[in-house]
Amino acid sequence: MNLIFMGPPGAGKGTQARQIAEKYGIPQLSTGDMLRAAVKAGTEIGKKAKAAMESGGLVTDDIVVGIIADRIAEPDCKKGFILDGFPRTVAQAKALDSMLKERALKIDHVIDITCDTEALVSRITGRSTCAKCGEGYHKEHKKPAKEGVCDKCGGALTTRADDNEETVRNRLTVYDQQTAPVIGHYRHAGAFKTVDGMQEMNTVFKTLCSIIG
Ligand code: ADP
Ligand code: ADP
Ligand code: ZN
Repeated sequence: MNLIFMGPPGAGKGTQARQIAEKYGIPQLSTGDMLRAAVKAGTEIGKKAKAAMESGGLVTDDIVVGIIADRIAEPDCKKGFILDGFPRTVAQAKALDSMLKERALKIDHVIDITCDTEALVSRITGRSTCAKCGEGYHKEHKKPAKEGVCDKCGGALTTRADDNEETVRNRLTVYDQQTAPVIGHYRHAGAFKTVDGMQEMNTVFKTLCSIIG
């Protein structure tokens, strides 16, 4: 099962991809997570990606395409994978098409999670993540039992440097200009579905499960 989760920053891609990955036993491939790990580790890729990520712009297509090409070649992707946050430009979508063709793979479902703009801003500015296990939280919609502490593993919750209002507005503009056109690339391909991301997290999850089967 090969899936693509699309949608603006804050729509709930990561939240849902994590749960779907667990349920179906396939890895969540988040280019955002991989790039943050590269920045933290100070690798060449991390050094090249840092400035764009901090301003809310996009990292260059060649970097993210290279990351995904390497990642889908790993053994744990044999059963399938969920692309979360990739492709984000039409050029990335075209590169993915040829990458899949070379490997005789296809995408089973492209799912676009939609969300109102003001909800996106409050979702992103209220977001925190467990530094240890990666579980996501929100200061209103998904509060941990104890402030700053992960319910699942007791790890410390952290907030992302780029989750501030100014950068978020820039990310939303970048989404409209560069990522929204990717929907057109997939809309006519057949396997495209839209899911209302304004629903409760559990309802979104159930809707996704009914699509995936
Ligand atoms: P994305 O990966 O699309 O950027 P996330 O999955 O990180 O989005 O979600 C952004 C924030 O919104 C997180 O704090 C998450 O807990 C919260 N969130 C996700 N889905 C919903 C939902 N359906 N309703 C309310 N809050 C949500
Ligand atoms: P969000 O959860 O808000 O959608 P991500 O964690 O997916 O954000 O991405 C964080 C940042 O990493 C983006 O603002 C961008 O700078 C960079 N990034 C992630 N994926 C891509 C991609 N496919 N192409 C270019 N840049 C990317
Ligand atoms: Zn945790």
